[in-house]
Amino acid sequence: MLMAKKAVKAAAKAPKRKSVCLVCRRERDGLPVADDPVIELIRRIKGRFGWLQGNRLVVCEEDVNAALGKRGRFEKYLMWCAILGFAFLMITTFSTSTLVLGLLVGLVGGLLIMLLPFGVYYPKIEEKALSGWMARKAKEKR
Ligand SMILES: [Zn+2]
Repeated sequence: MLMAKKAVKAAAKAPKRKSVCLVCRRERDGLPVADDPVIELIRRIKGRFGWLQGNRLVVCEEDVNAALGKRGRFEKYLMWCAILGFAFLMITTFSTSTLVLGLLVGLVGGLLIMLLPFGVYYPKIEEKALSGWMARKAKEKR
């Protein structure tokens, strides 16, 4: 009886956060996802609306390759949109009747283009955890 009470108290003190896989959405242990400004922002918005579940985002070992692929696609998209946004800025700056108008249109348009990739945003696996996982995999293969 006493022990049960103690256990309840301990559980209340340190609520165990569930680890949820980013790819398969199942509750599993895995490699932690790196915090970045986008994740921070999402967390803040969710917190404000009371949607924060407090789950720890991970990528389970089976889904590491899938997550890497999606992240790679996002990064490629990000790079292309940065180039496109910059090109758009250059074109409008030098092709409109006045420089100010060109700069204005270019900056707004360029910024919108650079924001596009965040519609397909995909977080990154923590560097340390990933290199550790890769080392383990390499060892297994040998
Ligand atoms: Zn998974």
